[in-house]
Amino acid sequence: MNLKDYITVVQDWPSEGIQFKDITTLMDNGKAFKYAVDQIVDYAKEKEIDIIVGPEARGFIIGCPVAYSMEVGFAPVRKEGKLPRETIKADYGLEYGKDVLTIHKDAIKPGQRVLITDDLLATGGTIEATIKLVEELGGIVVGCAFLVELTYLNGREKLEQYDLVALMQY
Ligand code: IMP
Repeated sequence: MNLKDYITVVQDWPSEGIQFKDITTLMDNGKAFKYAVDQIVDYAKEKEIDIIVGPEARGFIIGCPVAYSMEVGFAPVRKEGKLPRETIKADYGLEYGKDVLTIHKDAIKPGQRVLITDDLLATGGTIEATIKLVEELGGIVVGCAFLVELTYLNGREKLEQYDLVALMQY
């Protein structure tokens, strides 16, 4: 299956010059979505992971079915003010702005092996902040999995000491 057939490239969204990769046309196709999730499960199986962590909101969409399939837990990373209990936070720079990400302080136990998931790797800022949160809690990031990697934004360089997989490259 060629997963790129299910990605819609939206010109000039959210601003002029951006070619937004819309994954909703992959998600709404049951066979394509399962195929993509299964590929990430295959990658993760070799890594003996204890828990999956994903940033809101599309990191949940990818991480949760992988967690369900592997019978491991999922811990959400969210924008500031969204998680109800004690959190730690990390600043990050986005392709289109700046923000703060948070995680519950007790979401990861020291020494747990963590897989990080998101829909797309662009500059790597989101995942860098997510890794920072996991490591601050004592987690070991054993892999990061994405549907899409925008290679021209060089996110991979920022994360070179980590194992990354992306199912599609642009
Ligand atoms: P980064 O922090 O620059 O790597 O940006 C990645 C984050 O921005 C991810 O959480 C994506 O959901 C979102 N993002 C950036 N560009 C796109 C795109 O073209 N399609 C879908 N999401 C995108």
